[in-house]
Amino acid sequence: LGRDERAELLTELAAEKAELAAFAGVVAHDLLNPVTAVQGWAETATDAVELAARTPETARALDALDRVERAAVRMRSLIDGLLDHATARDGAFTSQPVDLGQVVADVTVARLDAAIGAGLPAPRFTVADLPAVQADPVLIRQLLDNLIGNAIKYTAPGVTPALTVTASRIGDMVQVCVADNGIGIPDGQHDEIFGNFHRAHSTLGYAGTGLGLGICRRIVERHGGTITATDNPGGGSRFVFSVPAAVPPTRQPVPD
Ligand code: ADP
Repeated sequence: LGRDERAELLTELAAEKAELAAFAGVVAHDLLNPVTAVQGWAETATDAVELAARTPETARALDALDRVERAAVRMRSLIDGLLDHATARDGAFTSQPVDLGQVVADVTVARLDAAIGAGLPAPRFTVADLPAVQADPVLIRQLLDNLIGNAIKYTAPGVTPALTVTASRIGDMVQVCVADNGIGIPDGQHDEIFGNFHRAHSTLGYAGTGLGLGICRRIVERHGGTITATDNPGGGSRFVFSVPAAVPPTRQPVPD
């Protein structure tokens, strides 16, 4: 293929990919109502059957309803993931100074509350002084929530999750590192895990859809940065991403 033809083909492929992504977002949106209805009606039916006298038939019905409800919950999380993906990809984007320390504090408090609420060991957080960044406030929160959520989730049973969040300034960018003491990433999958639906530990029973890191990558790319995963030297994994440093507001000239 000549250079022009190759460029044309690549543009065509990119357009097709964007169209498919938009289509997935529309389908996900349309699936949300029926799936929510299935979940709700399964709950209602469970409540009704629970009131009836327990027989082998009602036990079978309850078991079946439990499976319907769990399948609906799983569908919901896939749909939520696809919707988040669509928003991260094509949704509104604003760029403003964001206090990264505040975002991490909000995310860690929410994650601590969730762990305590679920009766799980409270994760330990070590957070360095974090600078302000120039970012979309909603997307940057989603990015950190995904990374911190994964760092807590992919921990061996019985191990208390311990996370470290640090940042350093490199030129015009801020490089943020989220390191954990978890089960780590299997060899050769450090890049693949950023692909949509790619799960490196699916056989180990960790719930998920494989969409989170694809969303993270898209968010970072929209900020003009990059994201990588490496092994943490002390065990566990380490995710490093870059986003622009906050731009101080330009002084308006004082009128004479
Ligand atoms: P999900 O968590 O829903 O499976 P993600 O896209 O967030 O999807 O992550 C993709 C895969 O990368 C996960 O299934 C897991 O195998 C691996 N992974 C992500 N974060 C970590 C982490 N902090 N430690 C170890 N493995 C991780």
